[in-house]
Amino acid sequence: AEMRKDRIEKTKTVCTYCGVGCTFDVWTKGRKVLKVQPQHDSPANGISSCVKGKFGWDYVNAEERLTKPLIRKGDQFVEVEWEEALSYTAKRFNEIRKAHGPDALGFIASSKATNEESYLMQKFARQVIGTNNVDNCSRYCQSPATQGLFRTVGYGGDSGSIEDIGKAEMVIIVGSNTADAHPVLASRIKRSHKLFGQKLYVFDLRKHEMAERADKFFRPKPGTDLVWLSAVAKYIIDQGWHHKEFIDKWVNDFDKYYKSLDKFTLDYAEEVTGLSKEDLIGIAKEITSVDKLAICWAMGVTQHQIGSDTSTAISNLLLVTGNYMREGTGAYPLRGHNNVQGASDFGSMPNVFPGYESVEDDTIRKKYETAWDVDLPKKKGMDNHELIVGIHDGKVHSMYVKGEDTAIVDANINYVTDAFKKLDFFVVQDLFLTATAEYADVVFPASPSLEKDGTFTNTERRIQRLYKAMEPLGESKPDWQIITELAKEMGFDWGYTHPSEIMDEAASLTPLFRGVSYDLLEGYNSLQWPVNADGTDTPLLYTEGFHFPDGKAKLYALDYENHYDTDEEYDLHINNGRLLEHFHEGNMTYKVPGLAHEQPNSFIEISQELADERGIKEGATIKLISEAGEGTGIVTITDRVHGKELFVPFNDNGKSAVNFLTDNSVDKDTNTPAYKEIKARMVVLTKQGKS
Ligand code: SF4
Repeated sequence: AEMRKDRIEKTKTVCTYCGVGCTFDVWTKGRKVLKVQPQHDSPANGISSCVKGKFGWDYVNAEERLTKPLIRKGDQFVEVEWEEALSYTAKRFNEIRKAHGPDALGFIASSKATNEESYLMQKFARQVIGTNNVDNCSRYCQSPATQGLFRTVGYGGDSGSIEDIGKAEMVIIVGSNTADAHPVLASRIKRSHKLFGQKLYVFDLRKHEMAERADKFFRPKPGTDLVWLSAVAKYIIDQGWHHKEFIDKWVNDFDKYYKSLDKFTLDYAEEVTGLSKEDLIGIAKEITSVDKLAICWAMGVTQHQIGSDTSTAISNLLLVTGNYMREGTGAYPLRGHNNVQGASDFGSMPNVFPGYESVEDDTIRKKYETAWDVDLPKKKGMDNHELIVGIHDGKVHSMYVKGEDTAIVDANINYVTDAFKKLDFFVVQDLFLTATAEYADVVFPASPSLEKDGTFTNTERRIQRLYKAMEPLGESKPDWQIITELAKEMGFDWGYTHPSEIMDEAASLTPLFRGVSYDLLEGYNSLQWPVNADGTDTPLLYTEGFHFPDGKAKLYALDYENHYDTDEEYDLHINNGRLLEHFHEGNMTYKVPGLAHEQPNSFIEISQELADERGIKEGATIKLISEAGEGTGIVTITDRVHGKELFVPFNDNGKSAVNFLTDNSVDKDTNTPAYKEIKARMVVLTKQGKS
């Protein structure tokens, strides 16, 4: 460590922000990050990176970093030694389990942490505590996309590589502000669109950069994407334009599916979505005129009460038109965090072990019982949402949250923080004293990606290694080490000395990762799961059939009922999303001076039309009030939003979080909060900004 201080070193790492999974060499001198340099060998990004990956690293030295464990004593946090923090936590977990049973405890893994750390969080919950109450933040974003793909094609992952999207003749983006949220992936589309004539259609509420660039931009009414997707599929089949050969060979349940489309006529779709019949016919024609169609989608689809169904409708449309099994075709749910994909893949979910093997399957469970030498719970556990409800209901008494600022990013913050206040014992593990950590009894100081080894899995199922570029700050430790030490304190001596040993264990237990090893992942090498025992991987997910016993995909029948609308009292629809310069709740990026300078404040985007109606000007201060809560912000008038639809960035530096407004409504199939269904009213506090 001493040597490291004065030497300039070059270390390969993986970006800690979005799910594109850009890799670079990071040049450091001691703790100082000198520069970040993408490589030609970088599989996802080549020599590109965005402003966050390039300049977003100073948070590792932020003065707010935690460097010692904290224990709450009265109203105060007191710095303590690791030994005390670990033994106190072990004691309290044991007491709570004894008093209320193992299911009184809940565990949240982090989609920012490594695959190995996700593996250990679920192992800790299952083996050490004896509960399946473990989840991760993909519950907040992408679980509905995964569900839609499970139903139709079998695997919950992008069907090809990011590079493949560039090869599509046509790309449709639904509910994704790709240029801000997945910048380097967006640049592949921009390039193909500009230079090679790739067609680009965008469906969104907000006219963001990709919408501006698109050949056609459509604005369906909030929450109605399922309807246009199904109506277009119906029209295609009615015209006989569907891919009959592909469907005969590769797809089950066509008749049942076609019957379910009865109600999705053009008239019905026009009425529900607001898109004209001519537009819908035009979309159907365009889709069937190309040979290779890829559809990308994100939170604008998933964070609705019918997020899983809408994701399913996307996959249905791809199946009807034969757009799977070839490069340049397929389904691309764009994963938000750097390791959203991996956190679920490695088993931090209440219903599955690593590799999506069911906890309720006796043979699978036996495999883990033998490997871990304990009896394991037979029933699936509680997800994020159920855990919070469970605290209110008196069923859950203790939580351990790692690398997730639930008190900002979960829906209905008032409800969530009221739950935290009721916990008997609460452990938070993070880089900073976050809004969530304020409610904790014990806070473990964790180390960020630059301070540890491990692997992340990006949106294209690509597993990539990151290497330690600097020592952990102060007494902070990598998450894998903290969990390993806590398990030991509770009587389970796992004995890991390096994350590679954790990966070896996961690979030995999980068919999906069978051939994964650190040797094969050396440097810029990477593997896209499933990885066979001989180390061969799977860039294109479906080549010889789909992930079902007979190798055939399934068309999945769907219905639609109007489930969300604004009304007279709450007459505004509030949309929310990311900004280019900031990530997630902003805990890291707002501590990077350059990024904070570029985009220092949150704001509320409103249309000129609404501004005129309410008599307000640029810079006005308004309060938004929903049934769940309220938030105040500064108005900016733009043409990105229209009518009574507003946009609030959700990275807000913790000051006026949009999740004060969101409520407890969730996707009916996955419990993902319906973050994109906020109706609110406005109170004008000042009519214009200070001049
Ligand atoms: Fe990082 Fe995503 Fe930007 Fe790439 S596109 S540098 S992964 S934030």
